Amino acid sequence: MTDLKSIVDSVYHDLSDRIGEGKLADYIPELATVDPRQFGIALVTTDGKLYSAGDAATAFSIQSISKVFTLTLALGKIGDGLWKRVGREPSGNSFNSIVQLEQEKGKPRNPFINAGAIAVADVVLAGHVPKEAIGEIVQFIRQLADDDTIAIDHNVARSETNTGYRNVALANFMRSFGNLNHPAEHVLGVYFHHCAVAMSCHQLAHAGLYLASAGRNPLSGGSVVSPSRARRINALMLMCGHYDGSGDFAYRVGLPGKSGVGGGILAIAPGKASIAVWSPGLNENGNSQLGSAALELLAQRTGWSVFGQ
Ligand code: GLN
Repeated sequence: MTDLKSIVDSVYHDLSDRIGEGKLADYIPELATVDPRQFGIALVTTDGKLYSAGDAATAFSIQSISKVFTLTLALGKIGDGLWKRVGREPSGNSFNSIVQLEQEKGKPRNPFINAGAIAVADVVLAGHVPKEAIGEIVQFIRQLADDDTIAIDHNVARSETNTGYRNVALANFMRSFGNLNHPAEHVLGVYFHHCAVAMSCHQLAHAGLYLASAGRNPLSGGSVVSPSRARRINALMLMCGHYDGSGDFAYRVGLPGKSGVGGGILAIAPGKASIAVWSPGLNENGNSQLGSAALELLAQRTGWSVFGQ
């Protein structure tokens, strides 16, 4: 039997002399103030056991990892109708790229690049004012993690609102093609705030558990999504969750995963566990450098890659 405790401990131990590697996401000024010398791992199994190491209880900005939760909400609202607005293909471009939007008439390649997540935020916003939509997203994440203390870091939200020019451009570009139903500033209000949710690795691993257990939260017993929807969200995470680094992540780790520029990664071992890692330094694709290395070792040592041993 795999001894998960010693695997998690050994992964942390074997990488601890690399803590601080990578580059902070300084294009969001508030993220550049984070201490880069932090590293946490939390793994929750589908039978509810928790293993963790390092800074696993420290809250960080989940950034694009939140796109997994907004996608889940949007699919709950409009189901497969979402795919008229957003594609399901890897982009092969950076997370904030605009080039394909022109070629593909305002339809983003997938829900995890910024443009796609902005279109998803537009869907979540339908029938609400932005504040209500933001509240619904935070409430959903709290429910998934079974933790009412989870909240938005308003300094991060403000920092990105003040400097997110590229996202403003993406939203207006999509609106010009008729792929946003609300004013760009309202949609971006929702988007910037859900990216600014702060969570620890413990909370994030707990929140992702429904994707590891066929759409049910094994701790509460409640159904979040159908098994087929969980499978499909995992497929999207595998193909698109690391932007233009998705192929490399699949090659090295072999698990569905979603990264964020706060340095977190949520990875799913279907049927086995939900895993959150965090270290703020990023690689050239905007994915956590140490977090990716940790998941690579973890996948090797557990044999959990979806592609086999
Ligand atoms: N909020 C960030 C942005 O829009 C999210 C990017 C990310 O985590 N990759 O740039």
